[in-house]
Amino acid sequence: LIQLFRPLDMLGMVYREIKQGLIDMESMFALIDTPAEIADAPGAPDLAVRGGEVRFDDVRFAYEADREILHGIGFHIPAGRTTAVVGHTGAGKSTLSRILYRFYDISSGSVTIDGQDIRSVTQASLRAQIGIVPQDTVLFNESIAYNIAYGKPGATQAEIEAAARGASIHSFIERLPQGYDTPVGERGLKLSGGEKQRVAIARTLLKNPPILILDEATSALDSTTEAEIQAALGAVAQDRTTLVIAHRLSTITSADEILVMDQGRIIERGTHEALLARSGRYAEMWALQAAESRAEAMAAE
Ligand code: ATP
Repeated sequence: LIQLFRPLDMLGMVYREIKQGLIDMESMFALIDTPAEIADAPGAPDLAVRGGEVRFDDVRFAYEADREILHGIGFHIPAGRTTAVVGHTGAGKSTLSRILYRFYDISSGSVTIDGQDIRSVTQASLRAQIGIVPQDTVLFNESIAYNIAYGKPGATQAEIEAAARGASIHSFIERLPQGYDTPVGERGLKLSGGEKQRVAIARTLLKNPPILILDEATSALDSTTEAEIQAALGAVAQDRTTLVIAHRLSTITSADEILVMDQGRIIERGTHEALLARSGRYAEMWALQAAESRAEAMAAE
């Protein structure tokens, strides 16, 4: 009998491992390629976060040896502040967030958090301090409570509900037939893009990291949902050092600093007002997006 159960046990183990693998993959925010080997330096200490100040100093980076993607990027997010990055597709915006999470090591320059080079600390401690709200959240075929609690293994029901409230998804969940026990994912209830993003926000609230990466969805949401999500994101970014990868300029007008990227370089930087006053690339992008939303509004009438 024992011999019969041993393979089953093994199967259980393999299943758990695959599931953990999927969870890990998800936390890589849909990174498609397997990143280069990144190893902890021997005897590396854990990252010690005080305020969570992030600094990129003359960062150069290439995914492939002969094609440099970032050509000397420098910026500084003071503890608790928000920096937004905008720019055309392929400018290198998401690459910045992958580097901060240390999916890749840079070719030269440095990235530090509270003065500690991220290459000199353990990856586990680095990633424990950074929360990511990705563009598209992968849901597990489990209950919605499980999907939220993934932000903090062992979270209590009260903590899960508090996070759901913070992410403006509690009342939606309460109206579901099985409430927090409702199965979601491929084999359960399919959630909309906006609902999935709120699950991601709730997870992040539970994880409660001092540093946050918000990778804004490219797909447009309807304006009510958009406003709700923005309010939830604003709440989660409060008092955390936040890097926003933005696609819609309307969502980042209150950022402390906006970086405009073009082909791996920062070509303009400043507040929304200062950038508009410059009448440069940002002002151009702003005028273009404003015209697009006017056209959309007219088409909807
Ligand atoms: P988008 O707004 O479309 O998301 P982005 O500004 O975030 O664009 P990145 O995803 O940072 O752009 O990509 C910057 C450049 O790096 C692009 O030219 C892209 O082709 C290249 N790139 C991105 N990921 C990889 C990869 N895994 N391997 C090789 N090149 C990559």
